[in-house]
Amino acid sequence: MTGFEQVPPGPPFDPDAMPVEAALTRDRATIRFTWRDGAQAALSASLLRSHCRCAWCTRDRVLGCFPVGFEGITVKHLEPMGGYAVHLAFSDEHARGIFPWAYLRDLAIEAADPEQPAVRHPAEAA
Ligand SMILES: [Zn+2]
Repeated sequence: MTGFEQVPPGPPFDPDAMPVEAALTRDRATIRFTWRDGAQAALSASLLRSHCRCAWCTRDRVLGCFPVGFEGITVKHLEPMGGYAVHLAFSDEHARGIFPWAYLRDLAIEAADPEQPAVRHPAEAA
């Protein structure tokens, strides 16, 4: 005991952004998320692939050679990383994307059709 306890820093991320469940659909073309507050969302592999923020994709966007779409792409592998993000590998052999949960939740909200929200709270689902 030094009498000088270190107070652990707060998490550098929103712990509520981490879903309680992230499941690949059988066709591997969609990931379904469920959050602790009951919100649910489904994000397609093509949307996720086109929103990859890794250095390579960022560079390709800057160079203007980032693909416009990823028709028919699937998720090969989904691996949670340290509670703040998920690592996704895609069927086009691109496996450098680290997607923070908070980013995925933002994407789900952003991608939501106002008529049919991707993020739905049970109370709102009539
Ligand atoms: Zn990427």
